[in-house]
Amino acid sequence: MVASPGTSLVDTFGRVHRDLRISVTDRCNFRCTYCMPEEGMVWQPRDELLTFEEIERVARVLVQHCGFDSIRLTGGEPTVRAHLPVLVAKLAALGVDLALTTNGATLAAVADDLAAAGLTRINVSLDSLRADRFEALTRRDELPGVLEGIDAAVAAGLEPVKVNVVMIRGVNDDEAVDFATFGRERGVTVRFIEFMPLDAGGGWTNDQVVTQAEIVEAIAAVYPLEPIARGSQPAERFRYLDARGEGGGSEIGVIASVTQPFCESCDRIRLTADGQLRNCLFSVDEFDLRAVVRSGGTDDDIARVAERAVTAKWAGHAINQVHFIRPRRSMSQIGG
Ligand code: SAM
Repeated sequence: MVASPGTSLVDTFGRVHRDLRISVTDRCNFRCTYCMPEEGMVWQPRDELLTFEEIERVARVLVQHCGFDSIRLTGGEPTVRAHLPVLVAKLAALGVDLALTTNGATLAAVADDLAAAGLTRINVSLDSLRADRFEALTRRDELPGVLEGIDAAVAAGLEPVKVNVVMIRGVNDDEAVDFATFGRERGVTVRFIEFMPLDAGGGWTNDQVVTQAEIVEAIAAVYPLEPIARGSQPAERFRYLDARGEGGGSEIGVIASVTQPFCESCDRIRLTADGQLRNCLFSVDEFDLRAVVRSGGTDDDIARVAERAVTAKWAGHAINQVHFIRPRRSMSQIGG
């Protein structure tokens, strides 16, 4: 039966799906070494990307017919898609919790417009606080712009501002405490993310993963921590014992997708920029919503595809198992 107003999409393991990740572009103005090659990415042709109207339609069906209540825009780099605040305004009108993940490079210029359009929350990705290392990692000399962007997001009221750090052994794993200090001083929540096998170059190895245990131990040695309830978030949360108040710089999070996956409570599906629905970052199958939308499909047809995608969801990804198969598309092509 097709989902209808008031119903939810529940998979065969009982997980209720509420969170929709929408990639608005596969393009990016950075070339992070662990994500994309310096040159040679093949971009999706523009006419294959969903238009804002098509994205809004899919989102509306998933919200109004399938019970989704949270949307995050990502990419590629979402802010390189022209007129992004127009899309934000369309999605904000659905009455959902609306968030954005960005590298922050142009955030200082757009934070106010995004907030005015109805964006509620923002995550900024930042993997090093050292200018030379930042440039080596992103292949762009943009650290001051990103720091300015984080301040602009806080000033625009996009609370909570979270800073996401991918920790990679031998690359930036000596900066955990520096990031903790940064979060405490700026009043932002720093979340460390384990490196995942989704790099376009295929160079990921398990020993590059800096584990949650290592990160927490390093920070707690300087700023004592206590675990706090995780709620529905993928991040394990830890609060500073000396924190005053809540939120902002009072806690850190670790998203341990590799060593302690949160698959059993995963409530997400993803819409790629070219209109394919994926039930997991690591899934090998996609469900073609663009074809449905562009061939005159009804709202019921869209909901039916979403139901099929959710029903097909595995119990969990298999990164640590011998039968793990890397997805055909890398992180920036799926939407991180
Ligand atoms: N451009 C935006 C940004 O930088 O946040 C959104 C897209 S980016 C693909 C989303 C997130 O994925 C970023 O935090 C990035 O660091 C992370 N990411 C990319 N490749 C990754 C990998 N192989 N393992 C873990 N995280 C990765």
